[in-house]
Formats: sequence, structure tokens, C-alpha cells
Amino acid sequence: MSSNIINRKEALSLLENESLLTLGEMANDIKKKIHNNSKLITFVIDRNINYTNICKCKCKFCAFYREEDSKDAYLLDKEQIFQKIEETIDLQGTQILIQGGLHPLLKINYFTDLFSSIKNRYNINIHGLSAPEIWHIAQNSGISVEDTLKRLKDSGLGSIPGGGAEILVDKVRSQISPNKISWDKWAYVIKTAHKLGIRTSATMMFGTVENSEDIVEHLFRVREIQEESGGFTAFICWSFQPLNTELHKSVNYSSTGVDFLKILALSRIVLNNIKNIQTSWVTQGSKIAQTSLFFGANDFGSTMIEENVVAAAGVNFRMSIDDIVYLIKDAGFEPAQRDTFYNIVRKL
Ligand code: SF4
Repeated sequence: MSSNIINRKEALSLLENESLLTLGEMANDIKKKIHNNSKLITFVIDRNINYTNICKCKCKFCAFYREEDSKDAYLLDKEQIFQKIEETIDLQGTQILIQGGLHPLLKINYFTDLFSSIKNRYNINIHGLSAPEIWHIAQNSGISVEDTLKRLKDSGLGSIPGGGAEILVDKVRSQISPNKISWDKWAYVIKTAHKLGIRTSATMMFGTVENSEDIVEHLFRVREIQEESGGFTAFICWSFQPLNTELHKSVNYSSTGVDFLKILALSRIVLNNIKNIQTSWVTQGSKIAQTSLFFGANDFGSTMIEENVVAAAGVNFRMSIDDIVYLIKDAGFEPAQRDTFYNIVRKL
């Protein structure tokens, strides 16, 4: 992979002063170089399983969480989870993304029992638990983060999604998610996972109270972790979806398609040590997602047979495998199903 080419100051200047098309061209060149001019655009077939919406963190940007005593609070039982996995496997899915709120009562044994029951029954990768969930499980169970991760891995956790990163700058985090772990704790969980051989993705949610410097800082913090550990499989960014959130009262605008494409392109330029950049059709819709293939993205993300978190914010884009294949081909690329670790499962 190519060596670092730009610094924070240069990245900030690109974001603030460069045109959309120039950024796109730069990102596209880097994408071609990293992927040896490959025409392949990948996607994974998976399902989000949100095992609970009970969460004590109460992030101001989140429309998904519920109080424990809320009428629509839930905790899925094993049978419900198994049924969702079976439906995913029937659709040739290779991964389940298991994530939930920071439930005040769930400890390590709940997760190790759940994961080992899943792995005993099904051949599917468990891509699960964000860094804040792992920190919370460790605290709730009175054990270290390292022990928590070891036990989760031993019971079947295959990889970790990079959620809960939002913007990795504490002055932003303290405004949008004051009860969530600080950026260095997020980094600690991720680096510990990488040390134990658990691959993760990295993410960014922009479009709240951050400024351009914060976005650039986030990207460089991710790049620096990758330089140290090499454990990130991919980077995914998306914009804040305001509807039904507390933050909507103070942030009353939505990021635009141009914002998304510029930030996606900048991600491809800065994160030249992370091989894969995913687009986000779930938040941006199919047309911007297709366009993003010319702005640095080499992966269409997931089919998301089920998605609850973005849907809670009133955004309901849906896509079938055929839709994704059509959009990739229509843009002049070659679609391929991949697994969590970007191995090609089949070309379509
Ligand atoms: S974003 Fe996650 S941690 Fe924050 S309130 Fe929602 S479910 Fe809880």
C-alpha cells in the first residue's frame, strides 16, 4: 500500500478549498492504485440484528434507544435471533451484524453464551458489538477490556464493526453523546482487538456539531491506529440522520450529497493505508451511493436484510441484491459478493 502522502494541514485545505470533482478525481486515482485498476465493486450479504434497544447511553443523535421501562423496549430471545440467522443464510448471507444498546444488566456470560450457541448451530461470521458496547460489557462484568475481548473471541466473535466512533474528538463527543466513551477509550478497545487478532472496520458519522478540522483529525487518528496495528478492514462514513433525535432541535439541517461525496473522497485520500472504502446507500440512497463509486468507494456495503437504527430516524432506503448488482453494472463496474474479510465469494 502506498505511503502517507498528505498531512493534516493539506487535508484540511483539500476539504475546505478544493472542488468536488477535483477531490473525486484524486480519490479515484488512489482507489485505482490501491486496487490495481480492478473493476470489482464488492458487497456483503448480511443482516443487522439489534438484540436490544435498551440503552443507558442516550446519545443525542440516536433515535433508536429506549429506556428500560419504555413500552417498546425489547431484548430479543435466542429463538428470535436464530430465526433471523436462518433467514440470512437462506439468502446466501455470510455475516450477521449484532449490535445493541448499552443494556444495564447484560454481562459477559450473556454474550459468550449467545455467540457460542450461534456458532454451534450456524456457519456464519459474527460481526458484532461496537467499542462502546465492549467497554460497557467489561465494566458491567468487572473484568478488563482485554479479558472481555478474549472471552468474546473464544465464544465465536469473528470481527467488530467500527460503530460508536462518531467523530473521534472529545469536544464533539461531549456535545452529541456525553455519556459515551471518550475517543482514546474507543481507540484502546480497537487497538486491543487488533492485538488479539480481531479485525474491525472504522467508521465516522459527520454532520452534527463538528467542523472541518474535527473531520480531518478523525481521519488522521484512524490512519495512525492503522499504521500501528493494520487491523482495519475498511472505512465507512455516513451523515447524521436527524429525524426523531434530541439533537435535531439544535442541528436543524441535513448534510447534502455533495458533503457526503467530498468527505468520502477525502477519506480515500487520507486513509491510503486502509484498503477498502464503503459507501452508505442506507443513509444516502441508491443514486448517491452509485455515484460514490467514482469518488473513492470500492465497496457497496451490505444488503442489510434488516436495518433498525437508521430506520428509527425516518430513513427507509431499501435495496435487494439485484438492485445492488444492477447499480454496480450500470456504473461500468463488476459486482462481486464478498465475506467480512473481503474475500470474494462469487462474481455476479
Ligand atoms: S447510538 Fe448506541 S450507544 Fe448511543 S444511544 Fe443509540 S444505541 Fe445507545
